[in-house]
Amino acid sequence: TPSDQVPSAAVRAHHAETAQRVREYRQAYYNEATSLVSDAEFDQLFGELERWEARYPALMTSDSPTQEVGGDVSAMFTPVKHPTRMYSLEDVFSLEELRAWVERATAQAGQITPNQPLRWLSEAKIDGLAINLIYRDGVLASAVTRGDGVTGEEVTANVLTIKEIPRRLSGSGWPAQLEVRGEVFIASKDFEAFNAKLRGEGKAELANPRNAAAGSLRQKDPAKTAERPLRMFAHGIGEREGLSAASQFETYQLMRDWGLPVSPYNVVLEGIDQILEYIAEKGQERHTLVHEIDGIVIKVDSFAIQRALGYTSRVPRWAVAYKFPPEEVHTELLDIRVNV
Ligand code: NAD
Repeated sequence: TPSDQVPSAAVRAHHAETAQRVREYRQAYYNEATSLVSDAEFDQLFGELERWEARYPALMTSDSPTQEVGGDVSAMFTPVKHPTRMYSLEDVFSLEELRAWVERATAQAGQITPNQPLRWLSEAKIDGLAINLIYRDGVLASAVTRGDGVTGEEVTANVLTIKEIPRRLSGSGWPAQLEVRGEVFIASKDFEAFNAKLRGEGKAELANPRNAAAGSLRQKDPAKTAERPLRMFAHGIGEREGLSAASQFETYQLMRDWGLPVSPYNVVLEGIDQILEYIAEKGQERHTLVHEIDGIVIKVDSFAIQRALGYTSRVPRWAVAYKFPPEEVHTELLDIRVNV
């Protein structure tokens, strides 16, 4: 069995070196809004760590990057503890892996609610950065980056410059304390226009919408953030005591009623065939959507089943991200653009 195997010194050294590289890439990505390698290369390295640890569980220490949500809290911002934890997502890179994941989750859910078909919330995976909006009595009290999932960075003044995010919720029925999780992003059209403007002014262009969004939100001076065309879609919920909805999709409807922006691409599906169809469709539409996507997120819609499936130290067991294969041509174009 894997647990009997003791890693050799060479394996330990290789694992430690890979973990160190993953930490450096994360530091650049989350704290400096810079990609030192492509996402595909990063995912490859991360997968390598996971495979070594599956073979030699002794390597899976609590400080391994596989056990942590990426991103330290920068000294530039005030650290704020999230009322409830924020997580990352488990990745799969092929449709076979996705099918196996869905079958496993269906079997686990079947033990909780037998004879009830599972409903799958299917969403575009927005390529931006995660934000936690805390509303107290319907008023935006603070906005915090994901950070390491436990503690994030306070960026309230910057988030207040994003017009689409309501300072005060409309309607009624919101919990006294509500955590709205979402993705801050730059729409593809806005990104092109912004770069065209920079080009016109003879300034350096922004490398890609994701890093541009991250760099724009994490500014010391909110006036700088205000100059950037940031947007947000809500895609999750943290603290919500007293919320009437029984499912995430229902919650999105409530969020819309409260004036929060929610993605137009979310649908509820039943079964793997519908999920595969959705993935094929979104893959085709990929470059004509409002924003860049790096995959599709599939979530168990029912809150009761989400609760029963729970979380690992890094990800929910009730959701998975299917990542699209890397696009060579697109990456090359981006590289050229960076160097203009
Ligand atoms: P992730 O991006 O794979 O998935 C988790 C995040 O997805 C969530 O925190 C959330 O913010 C976001 N998300 C977008 N749409 C969503 C939706 N509809 N529902 C729920 N969540 C949604 O995980 P991560 O831990 O943030 O980052 C890891 C990924 O970041 C890597 O796979 C890699 O692609 C990239 N990365 C790249 C580098 C690099 O150097 N190029 C370095 C670090 C990370």
